[in-house]
Amino acid sequence: MNTLHLQKTSFRLYSFKIDVSWFLKLREFVGKHSHNEALSLHFPASLKLTFNLGELRGILIPPVRGVKHLKLKLLNDYSPSAFEPLVDGILWSCYPEMLTMELGTKKNKFIEVLKDELQHTKNEKNSCCESTDIKCWRHDLKDFETEQFIGTKKRKPQVQRKMISFRFKW
Ligand SMILES: [Zn+2]
Repeated sequence: MNTLHLQKTSFRLYSFKIDVSWFLKLREFVGKHSHNEALSLHFPASLKLTFNLGELRGILIPPVRGVKHLKLKLLNDYSPSAFEPLVDGILWSCYPEMLTMELGTKKNKFIEVLKDELQHTKNEKNSCCESTDIKCWRHDLKDFETEQFIGTKKRKPQVQRKMISFRFKW
């Protein structure tokens, strides 16, 4: 978390190792700045990503306040094994009411993983986190819906982009 713009509340990530401690810092940030309506997270390159809540045993976890609108930007070139920790980390640290990102022209692997995880969570009784007192986001998700739309950039209104939004009920 080398660069942090409070006014815009956006993170551009230059750290190449992102783990559960990093997501804990993000959760603390979100908790302190909950008046910020929108938060942008920009993951510019492939990162080493892990998310293991067990590593936080014994650490006080701040309550989450949630972000109204989380905008996510990431490249589609992560290894598939990185998407699950990314989904887990982002939802656990931000508890967004809405998450928006560009769908892109190629198959968006992150979106696929996110949808799978959400559907699975909705359909199954969650038996994860049984052995630890720190619970993941799955235990709080009540419902979600998705919406696809065409977005334009303020500075380049002629460029149209396929976008997707998720609305979450926690
Ligand atoms: Zn869990």
